[in-house]
Amino acid sequence: MGRDKMGRETKADASRETLDLFAFTAAAGAGREGGQLTGTRDLLRFSRLIDGLPPQSTTQINWSLYGECTSGGRRYIEVRAQGQIVLECQRCLQPFVVPLQVVNRLEIVRSPAELDDDDEIERIVGSPRFDVLEFIEDELILSLPPVPKHEVCPSAPGGSDSAEQPDAEAGRPSPFAVLEKLKKERN
Ligand SMILES: [Zn+2]
Repeated sequence: MGRDKMGRETKADASRETLDLFAFTAAAGAGREGGQLTGTRDLLRFSRLIDGLPPQSTTQINWSLYGECTSGGRRYIEVRAQGQIVLECQRCLQPFVVPLQVVNRLEIVRSPAELDDDDEIERIVGSPRFDVLEFIEDELILSLPPVPKHEVCPSAPGGSDSAEQPDAEAGRPSPFAVLEKLKKERN
C-alpha cells in the first residue's frame, strides 16, 4: 500500500513502512545506507500500547534500529526507544508518568525452526516486509513494568479513606537511617 502522491503523505506514510530486514542487517557496517533507521512517533498512535491505560497526553516516542551482520553471517538488530507514558499506580491507583526505555538486541533468523537454538539471545524471524512500528510497539509493551507503582505514593490531598496506607516502605531506608549513615560518614 504505497500511496505517495504528495511528498507530505509519503513522509507520514513512512511511519507505516515495512523494511527488508535481511537487506537492513546485511548493509550494516558495509559503509552503505540502510543499517540504521530512526524515527519519532506520537505515543497516541501506538494504540495497542495505550489500550486500557489512563488517558495519555501527546508525547513523542523516539526510536531507532541498527542492523548488524557478523563476519560469521549472523544477523542482529538492536532496537532502542524512549519516551514516557502514563500508568496507574497499583498502590494508590493514581495515574503517574513513567519513563519508557527500550534497549534490546535480537538475532534475526530465517525460519521458525531456528528460533529456539538456545536461550542466550532473543530471536525473531526476519522478513523482507518487516513491520517496523509493530515491532517497536511490541518492544514498548514488553518494557512496561508488570506492576507499576510510585516509588513513594503522594499522600492524598484532603485525605481519602485514611484507614489503609498499604505497606510498601520495605525497600526504602527511613530518614533516620539515612541520617545515621551521614553522621558516620562524616566521622
Ligand atoms: Zn502510588
